[in-house]
Amino acid sequence: MKAYVNDKCIGCGLCVSLCGEVFSMEDNGLAKAVNDHVPPSAEAMVIEAKTNCPAVAIETTGH
Ligand code: SF4
Repeated sequence: MKAYVNDKCIGCGLCVSLCGEVFSMEDNGLAKAVNDHVPPSAEAMVIEAKTNCPAVAIETTGH
């Protein structure tokens, strides 16, 4: 699975709280997927973040 944060991010920080292994906050206050190849162990939390992102800014591809 790959994860990507699109330009709808509002910087709420939820995804970073849920899965700091994949998401981090940038200097501009918005999130970025730092590890776009999601380790299998983190996939469930990435899906959790994607489901709960208030801006629908997290996109994933693959499995
Ligand atoms: S949960 Fe969504 S809106 Fe919040 S920081 Fe992450 S990508 Fe941005």
